[in-house]
Formats: sequence, C-alpha cells, structure tokens
Amino acid sequence: MSKFWSQRTLELDPYTPGEQPKDNQYIKLNTNENPYPPSQKVQQAIIDASNDQLRLYSDPNSTDLKQSIADYYHVDTKQVFVGNGSDEVLAHAFVALLKQDDPLLFPDISYSFYPVYCQLFGIQSQKIPLDKDFSIQISNYAIKNGGIIFPNPNAPTGKALGLNSIEKMLDHNKDSVVVIDEAYVDFGAESAIALVDQYPNLLVIQTLSKSRSLAGLRVGFAVGHADLIEGLERVKNSFNSYPLATNAIAGAVASMQDTEAFEENCQKIINTREYTQIALKKLGFQTLDSRANFIFAKPPQGYSAESLYLNLKKKNILVRYFKIARINQFLRITIGTDQEMDHLIEALGELLNKTISS
Ligand SMILES: *Cc1c(COP(=O)(O)O)cnc(C)c1O
Repeated sequence: MSKFWSQRTLELDPYTPGEQPKDNQYIKLNTNENPYPPSQKVQQAIIDASNDQLRLYSDPNSTDLKQSIADYYHVDTKQVFVGNGSDEVLAHAFVALLKQDDPLLFPDISYSFYPVYCQLFGIQSQKIPLDKDFSIQISNYAIKNGGIIFPNPNAPTGKALGLNSIEKMLDHNKDSVVVIDEAYVDFGAESAIALVDQYPNLLVIQTLSKSRSLAGLRVGFAVGHADLIEGLERVKNSFNSYPLATNAIAGAVASMQDTEAFEENCQKIINTREYTQIALKKLGFQTLDSRANFIFAKPPQGYSAESLYLNLKKKNILVRYFKIARINQFLRITIGTDQEMDHLIEALGELLNKTISS
C-alpha cells in the first residue's frame, strides 16, 4: 500500500494467474498451456523477423496478421482486430463495447478476469448462475443488460454451448453486444465466427496461446462486424499504437498459415483428453464433458480436492485449484503429453490409496 495510489488502485482486486514456478521441475498442468512446441515453421518465422529491422516500430495495424486471420476464417480484414494476447483484446472490448448503463452479464463460474475488468473500468455487472450441472442456461440471459460475455467452451468447466443456443441468445439480445471468448474452441467446440455476418452484435475473441502453442508470444484477436472492430481500434489507438511486436506478428502469421501442424496438434490433445477422462473415471473421479484442453474433475467421495492439489504439488505435479464456492471440490487439470498424464494418473492412484489405508 502507498499513499500515492489512486482510489481506483486501492480498491482493485487483481487477477491471480496460475503459478509459473521458476524451478523447471514440475509437470505443469495448471495454466492450460500447450504441451507441444510451436511448429518449426512458426519458430523459424519468429527468428527470421528478429533482425536489425527491430529498430523500427512494428506495423501499428498488424496488416499481415489481420490478412492471415481473415483468410483462415473467410472474413474481411475489416472484421478482424488483433491485440497483445486476448486478455488485451478483452480489455478493449470491455471499454469499447461492454461499458453501458445496464449491467454486463456473465456466468457466476467463468473466467475470473471478467470481474477484474469490470472493477478496473467501473462497469456494472451481474453474475448469472450456471445450472446444477454447470451448463449455461441461455433463458437466464433474456433480461435487461448492457452486454453479455462468456467463454465457449466455458472455463474452468470445459463445457460448450452449441451454435443454435448461441444464435438464440443473439436473437434475444439484438440491442446489446454478445462477446464469446473462444480461448478453447479449437479443442472440440464450434466457433461462432460462422455467425458474424448474420449478427452485427456478435464479437468472437480467440487466442493463439492455447491451441497454437504460443502463450509466450502474446497474440489474440477478435472477429465481428466492422463497426464493432472500429470501436476496438478507437480504444486501442487511445492506449497503445504498437501492441504487437514485429516478430510476434511474423510468428502469428506463420501459425495461421501452418494449418496442418495446428490441426494435428489439437487432435493429439483431444485424444489424450479422452483417455485421461476415462482413467480419471476409473479412479472414481466425476468429470464434466470437456471440449477444452483441460478436464474439470471432482475427486471421489471422501477426498478433498484441495488436499489432492497440495499433495500433487509435493509430487511435483501442478494442477489448478480454485477456493471458490460451488467449485472448491474440483481440480482443473490441463491436458499435457500422454506421458505427463500417465504420471498424473499414477500419482493420483497412489494418493487415493494412501488415504484409504491410513
Ligand atoms: C487463457 C485465456 C484467455 C487469455 O489468453 P491470452 O491470449 O493468453 O491473454 C482468455 N480467456 C480465457 C477464457 C482464457 O482461458
């Protein structure tokens, strides 16, 4: 605390990211990073762009990247916005589109950055409870609002909504913007980008951090009606003209173009997720149907999620535990390599046995 802090800063309750331990000995299944490296083509593109040209500012409009995203999704470049990670894209969307007189709606269990942005930017919000089975009930969103935001698949549940449900929500909310945060969509859900030409109130946000193995490059983007994108550009150009580094743009372009490596990578993670889910169930865990690169799992009756989290950490395996009402009996487990998941299952087996015999 400091007497020099502004009132707003004093009142902030910042987002807590998952642990990023410096000693590199953990099996990291706690921050939904991709266990596989970016492709050689992508790595080479970043290296090639890391040259004497770095003395110059990067392209303020990231034109090449917008083009490669537009090509990939068959939209116009005017429908594409890019930013320094999707967290930055989200922040701009909160200011440009979601700060309204009526409250912003989002699920009670969701990405915990949303309430942080509301606090930072002074946005009224209302949390809409998920069902008992942790699914989004779209009829609950048919109330007066200044915007709606949710991840699809949702985090940390991993459950996905189908496009027909999303269309219903868009139809019911023609006077407010619906933002869909598709950080995990490539692991088995349907992208709402297919709907942007029909719905001028739809903004879809994606990231290269998870499915494209580029969390460290910090690139995210939004696709929506050109008018929404123009609003985001106005905020971006009132904040930071050069959010993306030259080599980050080059790596991101290469990634959008390297479709084969990307698809293969996603499929590997989906396969590992499916067999891990079966293995967890054999151990007595209850798991939610995940379309993401993580599994939200509840230990068998009588075992505490928190103590399993702590005991896994002692065995050098990091998973994510949220000490939050309704989900404090769950672990969020990122999908790693097959070998990493085998280690996890083995460790969990040992921990469960040990507790029984003691
Ligand atoms: C990881 C994540 C993000 C942020 O991704 P970055 O592009 O790395 O900033 C946004 N939304 C959700 C739901 C996420 O899980």
